[in-house]
Amino acid sequence: MSDNKIVFLEQSKMPTHYYNILADLPVPMDPPLNPATKQPAGPEDLSAIFPMDLIMQEVSTERYIEIPDEVRDLYRISRPTPLIRAANLEKELDTPAKIYFKYEGANPTGSHKTNTSYAQAYYNKKAGIKKLVTETGAGQWGSALSMACKHFGLECEVFMVKVSYNQKPYRKTFMKLFGATVHASPTNLTNAGRKVLEADPDSPGSLGIAISEAVEVAVQRDDTNYSLGSVLNHVLLHQTVIGEEAKLQMEMVDDYPDIVIGCAGGGSNFAGIAFPFIKDKLSGERKNLEIIAVEPASCPTLTKGKFDYDFGDEAGMTPLLKMYTLGHDFIPPKIHAGGLRYHGMASSISHLYNQGIISASAYEQLEVFKAAQIFAQTEGIVPAPESSHAVKEAVEQALKCKETGESKTILFNLSGHGFLDLGAYELYLENQLNGG
Ligand SMILES: *Cc1c(COP(=O)(O)O)cnc(C)c1O
Repeated sequence: MSDNKIVFLEQSKMPTHYYNILADLPVPMDPPLNPATKQPAGPEDLSAIFPMDLIMQEVSTERYIEIPDEVRDLYRISRPTPLIRAANLEKELDTPAKIYFKYEGANPTGSHKTNTSYAQAYYNKKAGIKKLVTETGAGQWGSALSMACKHFGLECEVFMVKVSYNQKPYRKTFMKLFGATVHASPTNLTNAGRKVLEADPDSPGSLGIAISEAVEVAVQRDDTNYSLGSVLNHVLLHQTVIGEEAKLQMEMVDDYPDIVIGCAGGGSNFAGIAFPFIKDKLSGERKNLEIIAVEPASCPTLTKGKFDYDFGDEAGMTPLLKMYTLGHDFIPPKIHAGGLRYHGMASSISHLYNQGIISASAYEQLEVFKAAQIFAQTEGIVPAPESSHAVKEAVEQALKCKETGESKTILFNLSGHGFLDLGAYELYLENQLNGG
C-alpha cells in the first residue's frame, strides 16, 4: 500500500465494456408497461423518441456491453477520473475509517453526466437523428448533453426546471456556449407546460414537468429524439464506467470498500459507482458489502415513497415504470440540489432496494451543506449540493467508526463539483438556507 492520495488509472486500462446488472439480478424486475394496454412495453412503444441501439440496451440482459470507440475516445478527455483518499477529512473527523472518493467533477461539464451524454448523442447520430430534446434540473445534464450534441453535430433543446433556471443562471450560459437552446420550464411552448401554468402561473417546475415538455416536442418530429439524463436502464448502464474504474483503482491500493455510497436523484451516479460492486455482493464474493443511496429528506423517494407503477413524467406520456415514487404530480420543495428533485427512482435501484440488497438514507439541506463545507475545507473541492448528500453519509459512517473503533473502508462518489452552485453556498453562509 502506497502513501499516494490520488490513485490514477492509466488510460490504457480504461474499461472497454459497460456492466449490465440486469444479467445478475437474482429475481428479475417487473417490466415497464404500456399505459393504454397495461401490457409490457415493447421496442415499438419507445421507437418514436429513442434510437434502436439504446432501446436494445434498455432491455438487454447481456452482462457486458461494448463501449463504441467513438465514445471511448471522448471519455479519454477526462477519464479515468481520479480516485482520491480523503486523508485530510479523515484527520479532521479523527476517525479510524479510510475514506475514498471517486471524483466525477473532473469531467468537462463538472459531473458524471457526460458518461451517458456522449453515448446517447453517438447512438442518435448513428441513427440519422438531427436534434435531441431534453429536460434538466440543476443544469448538469443539459450541459453534458449540449456538449455531446455539439461534438456529434446535433442540435440540442433543453427544458430547464424554472426554479433552477433562476437559482443557477450560469448553467444556462454554459449550455448556450455549446450552442443549445434553453427554456425555463414550465413554458407555454407545449400543452403540458401550458396546463401547469394555467393551474399555477408561479409553478417552480419539476423534472417531471420538464420531461413531459421535452417528450412532447420530440414525438412531433421524425428527425428529433428525446434524451433522458437518468432513471432508464441504458443511462445507468453507461455510468458503470465509474464503478469499474473505481474497482481497479481500489485494487491498485490493495483495498476494497466495506461501504459504497452515492447520492440518488434518478439514480444514475449511484448506479455508476455501486453496480460493479453489487456484482460482487450478488455473487457471494462480498456478502457483507453495504451499499447506501442518499436522498434529500424533502424528496424522500426510496425512504418514504411507494413501490408501485407510476409515470416517469408529470403529464403521463412515458411508459409506466415499477419504482419507488412520491407520485408523478409531486412538486418537491425548492432545495438547491436540483438534480435530486425527482419524484421517482430508477426501476433497477428500486428493485434492489425492495429486495434488501441496498439501503437508503435521507438528510436535510442544512446538515448536508454543513458536511459539504467541512469537505471543502479539508479536501479543497466544493461539492455540488447533490454530491454533498453522499459526503454527508460518508461523514456519518466515518463518525460511527470513531465510536466503534472499526477501521472500515468507505468509498463514495463525488458526482460533481459545485463551482456553479456558489449562490447556494452564499445563502448557506448568510444563514438564509432553510432546513429542507
Ligand atoms: C444530475 C446529478 C445528480 C443526480 O442524478 P442521478 O441520476 O441520481 O445521479 C447527482 N449529482 C450531480 C452532480 C448531478 O449532476
